Amino acid sequence: MSEVTMEQLVSLCKRRGFVYQSSEIYGGLSGAWDYGPMGVELKNRIRDYWWKEMTQIQEHIVGLDAAIMMHPKVWEASGHVENFTDPLVDCRQCKSRFRADQIDLEAACPVCGTKGSFTEPRDFNLMFSTHLGSVKDSGSVVYLRPETAQGIFVNFKNVLQTSRVKIPFGIAQVGKAFRNEVTTKSFIFRTCEFEQLEMQFFVKPGEDERWFEYWKQARIDYYRKLGIRSDRLKFKEHGSDELAHYAKAAFDIEYHFPMGWQELEGIHSRTDFDLGRHQEYSGKDLTYLDPETRERYVPYVVETSAGLTRTVLMVLSDAYEEEQLEGGDSRTVMRFHPAVAPITVGIFPLVKKDGLADLAKTIERRLREKYQVFYDQSGAIGRRYRRMDEVGTPFGITVDYQTKEDDTVTLRFRDSMEQRRVSIHQLEEIIDGEIRSYRRES
Ligand code: ATP
Repeated sequence: MSEVTMEQLVSLCKRRGFVYQSSEIYGGLSGAWDYGPMGVELKNRIRDYWWKEMTQIQEHIVGLDAAIMMHPKVWEASGHVENFTDPLVDCRQCKSRFRADQIDLEAACPVCGTKGSFTEPRDFNLMFSTHLGSVKDSGSVVYLRPETAQGIFVNFKNVLQTSRVKIPFGIAQVGKAFRNEVTTKSFIFRTCEFEQLEMQFFVKPGEDERWFEYWKQARIDYYRKLGIRSDRLKFKEHGSDELAHYAKAAFDIEYHFPMGWQELEGIHSRTDFDLGRHQEYSGKDLTYLDPETRERYVPYVVETSAGLTRTVLMVLSDAYEEEQLEGGDSRTVMRFHPAVAPITVGIFPLVKKDGLADLAKTIERRLREKYQVFYDQSGAIGRRYRRMDEVGTPFGITVDYQTKEDDTVTLRFRDSMEQRRVSIHQLEEIIDGEIRSYRRES
């Protein structure tokens, strides 16, 4: 089903400045990646797209940005100190470490080939810990947050008291999370440092099932709106034996990545588990008083939790296409939704001389106020178009001799490669209209 291989993606990402291996000049750090000029634009735009969908368009959701390091009691209350573990086994021969649930314990070690060399599974906590301040004792232990959600729960009362929100309402947050994953593989799919896009929606107990259905639908619709191919998205329900310690019900939205179907986002019905536990551990009242009915209760929570860096991998895989063109030519094209493409408009003077470069520069300066623009005056025009196709730039503007006569340029569309003669005064109007009405065709 998937046309792109991971090797093709990794290679394009390196070649075109999307993603580099961390600390590459020192041989790299396993499972850590850096986002280059194209990658950071793509990641930021996906983040902004999510933020707009979840806060600006949603009347009842407000934002938050909590600290990565939190009071250690937070992680006792949340259950992470006790439960956030993976069962691990070691090979006694070569000392390699594996997740017990991802390996056949009867088989030979996949690294050194020794049979019967595995230790008994031991629980290994995924949280990174460090010490705050200069004294390294048990009282100074802090964790790097393994999820952004807890920053939202511990601020529930603050937001309630300062934002004039009423139940049902949500709090959204984007930020880094850290997990000491044993197997970091598949490029940026699973890493120890990653970014999450999380939203906790607080509802009245008894109304949680309705809201769970609402958010399930809203979240899959969001990916379709982002132009992701429908046949590569599906739901997967968690069976009762797979549910996390806090969950009453959970569905994953899965995407067909180059390595197969994998989780992209989780929608979880968390009941009053988190607020209830923080109330118990902090001794603070985290109940809600309904202003109309005067009922007092601990709200239930429906959570939508997606990986930002994992979404970047999904968007890259979904966008990648190698296309055969007429005349035996071929091109690699990244069909990003124009709202998240790293560069929105490429500007090319047909030739540098005769004032065409100056004219193109004038248009470039104007469009830079509004869009991410790339100016390129070197090489044959076909080559310049191909370079922009490879980084997924949806619009190309070519300035030629006719521009000097009548203020028109050629506007080229990445997906169809159609070229239209348009007035330079209409460029913003046309581009904005195309971004708003974008539908992916293939
Ligand atoms: P998995 O089963 O893949 O380890 P999870 O079910 O533990 O993930 P959640 O705790 O529900 O994941 O986290 C929510 C989202 O955060 C996931 O759907 C995923 O997109 C992202 N995510 C979780 N762990 C990682 C990671 N190590 N690297 C990148 N993204 C991650």
